[in-house]
Amino acid sequence: MCGIVGYIGNKEATPFLIGGLKRLEYRGYDSAGIAVQNGKIEIIKTKGKVTDLEEEIAKVSPKGTVGMGHTRWATHGAPNNANAHPHVSFHNKVVLIHNGIIENYAILKEKLLKSGYEFKSETDTEVLTNWIEYIYLTDIYDKFEDALSVAMTQVEGAFGLVVMCLDTPKKLYATRRGSPLVVGVGKGEYFIASD
Ligand code: GLU
Repeated sequence: MCGIVGYIGNKEATPFLIGGLKRLEYRGYDSAGIAVQNGKIEIIKTKGKVTDLEEEIAKVSPKGTVGMGHTRWATHGAPNNANAHPHVSFHNKVVLIHNGIIENYAILKEKLLKSGYEFKSETDTEVLTNWIEYIYLTDIYDKFEDALSVAMTQVEGAFGLVVMCLDTPKKLYATRRGSPLVVGVGKGEYFIASD
């Protein structure tokens, strides 16, 4: 179980995300990544250290005041770029980072494969990302947050999650069960951290 940071407010998210990930490095990890939302969702991730991630970020300079960052400690799938977080759903609607383990991921993955979903990683986390999107797109929920709540009742295991939906650009969702996650409230801004 590794590191999560999130930011939504009126400042650029990326400096906070990098600083937050550096403060979580002591926990150990094998890869790191960020997502920043600004009309589209920009994802930058890499195997290795936060300094390696910083080099990748410098090439792109992502702008946006909503973002999330993750350091991964692999439980499902090798430490590599494809398995690093954030993960994006098959229809590109949902982006998320996850600490913990989704115990019923194999059953959910089987259902998703039968519905035509394809996977780019070996992780339980990508299954979760697609499961949330699947509930959002196929069920009757108009609001993404309702679909997210329902999807999480169908998931077994421990998780701390930060989630973005392309359809709700000014929102950042956080949810947890068994894994730590705190929300800091500032003036016109919110911070999320797993420690
Ligand atoms: N189970 C997830 C994975 O293997 C999350 C690992 C973590 O908590 O960092 O990607």
